[in-house]
Amino acid sequence: MILPPAIIGVFGSGQLGRMLALAARAMGYRIHTFSPERDSPTGQIADREVRADYDDLDAVRDFVRQVDVVTFEFENVAAAVAQVAAEEGVPVRPGGHVLHTTQQRLREKRFLAGAGLPVTPFAAVTTEAGLHAAVARIGAPAVLKTAAFGYDGKGQARINAPAQALAAWDAIGWQEAILEGFVEFERELSVVAARGLDGAFAHWGVIENVHPNHILDVSVAPANVNPRLAADAVELARAVLAQLDVVGVLCVEMFLDRRDRLLINELAPRPHNSGHLTIEASATSQFEQQARAICGLPLGSTELLRPAAMANLLGDIWETGAPNWAAALATPGVKLHLYGKKAPRAGRKMGHLTALASTIEEARAKVLQARAALSEASAN
Ligand code: AMP
Repeated sequence: MILPPAIIGVFGSGQLGRMLALAARAMGYRIHTFSPERDSPTGQIADREVRADYDDLDAVRDFVRQVDVVTFEFENVAAAVAQVAAEEGVPVRPGGHVLHTTQQRLREKRFLAGAGLPVTPFAAVTTEAGLHAAVARIGAPAVLKTAAFGYDGKGQARINAPAQALAAWDAIGWQEAILEGFVEFERELSVVAARGLDGAFAHWGVIENVHPNHILDVSVAPANVNPRLAADAVELARAVLAQLDVVGVLCVEMFLDRRDRLLINELAPRPHNSGHLTIEASATSQFEQQARAICGLPLGSTELLRPAAMANLLGDIWETGAPNWAAALATPGVKLHLYGKKAPRAGRKMGHLTALASTIEEARAKVLQARAALSEASAN
């Protein structure tokens, strides 16, 4: 067991590391963060912020020698980082194999399909002939995604008819890609779950997510799905975490199709945006759980205390001037989280709001009302 005041080393320095740092520091841990950024969302909360490139393996070695356990808040870190930590005898949780599988969409989909888990139909694309063969097999509409380094809809192009295939590949830069059948989904769901060093499993039930323009906008929990479906979704997550041998938190994003089937879209081997509402809504947040899991502590209770809704705050909100924080916070029961990012670019996740209420409908209405209030003219 890695007990406080041990040092948790985090690769990546965004909001996920920041919220992990806040939870871990509350428990008495120290936090070091490593990324190419300075004054980062995680660095502002950490005891130490190391600024270096992920492929600077000397800097990586120096960093891992000074921490007691290594984790990631950003999965697109070279697998060599995990290797260096292992060489130095510092535990890496989740392990490098989890990073390796989940940082490349093709590997991830092949792992899921190989484990007998339901996924969207997919095919690999590495050549022009392969692209045409993939479109012929999967059919249109379909989505072409870069195999590596994609997130929030980046590196994706839709193919509505086979004649659009080459243009779609051009749009994502002729990189190695995965073609996926387009799912006319009924809803998007996620299960955020954790697995301990001893194999213990904990989850927050099913969360429902809305992604206009491919970026998460609003999440609510518990999702309004029938108990059988909720149990099936949780069993899928349990299978993923066990088969991948995860120690830590992992989110399984799924589609519920029009025939009530669950299809796994994507895995995130870390706390996830759809789980931010657990900070207020649950006895143990996904961030505290990450700290517990990677430190070998017992997992905490994931009991949901009240229905909750979370709304993201993207940089777009700043376009008309400084948001009216006071107006948003005047909505009873609404909590504000800002990530300490300086440049509010369109589409950039700057923060989020969470509301708890007696029902998910009420929680959603509250959080949307609070977000709308951000654009009201301020009193002073
Ligand atoms: P991803 O980066 O794969 O998580 O995709 C971001 C969002 O794009 C998803 O949450 C969906 O809203 C949409 N999307 C991605 N892949 C598909 C698909 N195969 N069929 C339908 N929608 C998709």
